[in-house]
Amino acid sequence: MAPVTTQPGDIKSILAEKGLDRDDPRLVGLLDGVKAADVERALAEPCGRYSFSRLLTLISPAAADFLEPMARQARDLTVQRFGRTIQLYAPLYVSNYCINSCRYCGYNQGHNYPRRRLTIDEAIADADVIAAEGFRHILLVSGEDPKFITADYLCELAGRLGANFSSISVEIYSMSEPDYAKLFAAGIDGVTLYQETYDRGTYGEHHPAGPKSDYDRRLESPDRFASAGMRRIGIGALLGLGNWRTETLAMGEHAAYLMKKYWRSQVSFSFPRIRQAHEVRDEFVRPVSDRDLVQMMLALRLCFADAGIVLSTRENADLRDNLTPLCVTKMSAGSKTSPGGYTGESATKQFEIADNRSPAQIAEMIKASGAEPVWKDWDAAFSQQRG
Ligand code: SF4
Repeated sequence: MAPVTTQPGDIKSILAEKGLDRDDPRLVGLLDGVKAADVERALAEPCGRYSFSRLLTLISPAAADFLEPMARQARDLTVQRFGRTIQLYAPLYVSNYCINSCRYCGYNQGHNYPRRRLTIDEAIADADVIAAEGFRHILLVSGEDPKFITADYLCELAGRLGANFSSISVEIYSMSEPDYAKLFAAGIDGVTLYQETYDRGTYGEHHPAGPKSDYDRRLESPDRFASAGMRRIGIGALLGLGNWRTETLAMGEHAAYLMKKYWRSQVSFSFPRIRQAHEVRDEFVRPVSDRDLVQMMLALRLCFADAGIVLSTRENADLRDNLTPLCVTKMSAGSKTSPGGYTGESATKQFEIADNRSPAQIAEMIKASGAEPVWKDWDAAFSQQRG
């Protein structure tokens, strides 16, 4: 592997110093060395504050026996910081073409199936269905399709979506800072981009070709879109590729770095677990159980009081119902994971969702949990009020 070039204080050097960009046995030793008394001490500290050692303690095997007190603290902290509200959003897939070869993804360029890109009019037709369901926050999703899904395409689409949606975000390929600035000027104010795995070796195995094979370029993407002004920064690891405990530690360091440097933006964590997908064989998956996922979400909440916690329809109804009152701030609902999926002219899906309930049913579930479903983006409403 080529030597990594770092600058003091950049995210590459932060991860490298702590052994978070590789399979470092020292970290496993530190995690295994945490005792029940250490967890009790960590839980007695004021919650919501991040330190590497606190997150390491709460994500350790020893802390797996403390999920109940962690859940109680996480619920209280979330209510204190976010009120009893859960924001709802819907993804709109605009293209399932892709020039990358991610081994875990149905859109891998080597997979053979009919591909589809939506024209602006077709995308608006799907978005109209989403708006009619009540959503005012939309997430535009695409494979890496830079010839068709350009910054200009996204800007034109955002211009037309503005009438129906108060908040538009994207989950697309890594762009340049000037392109992100164009999107921001066109009304797109959030970007979600998962590192997939922070372990360079594992990253290389799963991203053998295409622009996404460049680990460093991907890692530095949130710097580019935050520098371009994006108000909402979404990060995450694809759970099932690496050691979920060390991925959580890397997410914590990445978030702390971004929060310090881009303090005007809000950082959110997502927790995508690998799902079954077209032509994907799952022999490489390192399973992350429901309990592991819950521990990961609670530990991050207890270290980052103001971070958004996003839970998608990748997870099943039972788990989503149980997690909703604890720490979640944002959920997708009624998701279609293929271009044209909302108007019925569906193409191949990126992955199968696990919670098939309608947006209205999800809203009812949120109300039953004692919270209020929010269809509009509160950040956007707040910044408009501030003028
Ligand atoms: S994960 Fe994204 S970049 Fe990779 S093959 Fe799928 S759509 Fe393309």
